[in-house]
Amino acid sequence: MLNTLLSLSALPFIFTGGYSSYTSWSTSLNLLFFYITWSTLLFSHPPIKIELVGTLIIRILFFWLPAIIFLLFDSALPSLAANIKLQGKEGLGKKKGGEYAIERLKIVAWAGFNTILGIAVQGAVEYGFTKVLKRKSALRISSKLPLPGEILWDVSRGVLVREVLTYYLHRHLLHQSPAPTSTRSRIKSSLSPATRIPLLASLHLQWSHHLTAPLSFSAHSDHPICHLLTRILPLYLPAILFRFHLLTYFIFLALISLEEVITYSGYSIFHYSILGGATRRVDRHYQSCCTPSVRTLISRLSGRATAAVTGEEEKDAIDRIGNFGIWGALDWLHGTSVGRSEDEQLEQELADEREEVGDMVREVMEKVVEKRRGRSSVGVERRAGSMGSGASRRRERERERERD
Ligand SMILES: [Zn+2]
Repeated sequence: MLNTLLSLSALPFIFTGGYSSYTSWSTSLNLLFFYITWSTLLFSHPPIKIELVGTLIIRILFFWLPAIIFLLFDSALPSLAANIKLQGKEGLGKKKGGEYAIERLKIVAWAGFNTILGIAVQGAVEYGFTKVLKRKSALRISSKLPLPGEILWDVSRGVLVREVLTYYLHRHLLHQSPAPTSTRSRIKSSLSPATRIPLLASLHLQWSHHLTAPLSFSAHSDHPICHLLTRILPLYLPAILFRFHLLTYFIFLALISLEEVITYSGYSIFHYSILGGATRRVDRHYQSCCTPSVRTLISRLSGRATAAVTGEEEKDAIDRIGNFGIWGALDWLHGTSVGRSEDEQLEQELADEREEVGDMVREVMEKVVEKRRGRSSVGVERRAGSMGSGASRRRERERERERD
């Protein structure tokens, strides 16, 4: 079964089938081979098992493997990693040594738990559909292979629905504005904070935004409830809604897994890729949670500090958090984008460079002027000296004449 699922690498042939005369024979053979193995797999294993094991394999190949490589690179070569992090050294986190290792291990452990949880929920949904409701499976599991156009259409609308769900759930549930606490509770205790942070927002801030910069595993290390709401639901709901073919779902899942691991890597090397903008936006989302008021709030929620900022400051800081979507369109539409646009950034970089060059030129000019002044003053002194000696010589000569 594992071999057949791994032979999903033959899927790109579906896209190229019939378009290239050079590879048409090999493509047809690959497709035939793929069709036979896929049909055999369906015939010999329960569909739910194929769906769940396939999901696990895709997650391992397209999320876990790259995430582990990124994490090992960050840990083994921090100085090199800092060079390609969008936040530089800050992008590697503030903790060092044992504390750093424990923090990373916790994040990886929760990412593992959340991956299993997501697959378990998917299994429960399929079980509910087929065994409890006695209906067709949530995803279309058939031996008939999906056509390239169908795959493209399903993946496109899946990406669209996922973006809409991610944006609104992330913005309105995980970064919900705090409500002012009742005056009664404030009278009861002078330590009672001025605002009441909704439960999900509190969990998301403590679990995800205790880090000042994202790291590859951050996409899956949020609190399990937050993870189910903003990672699993936006991914699985469009697949059920449009009843994706299982193979289309695997392609969709592979693309989303890659997108998650890249956009949360915090690396600037993806600048010119299709995911460069999304990677920067995720990084800016984390940066928008780094204001002193939000940091104090996170400390207060984790029980490490009492409220040190006013309710208005806390609310204002939370309302300033932005970049909730992945592709940026909804943030732009709702005015929740944070950070500068690419053009503005480029302009700023050019202005900085111009200023730097100007400073260097000014420095050189000042040095030249200073040197010239130094020389001319020496010359004046010398001239003055020579003039002085000439005058004294003249005066001496006059005195000698008077004596004669
Ligand atoms: Zn967030």
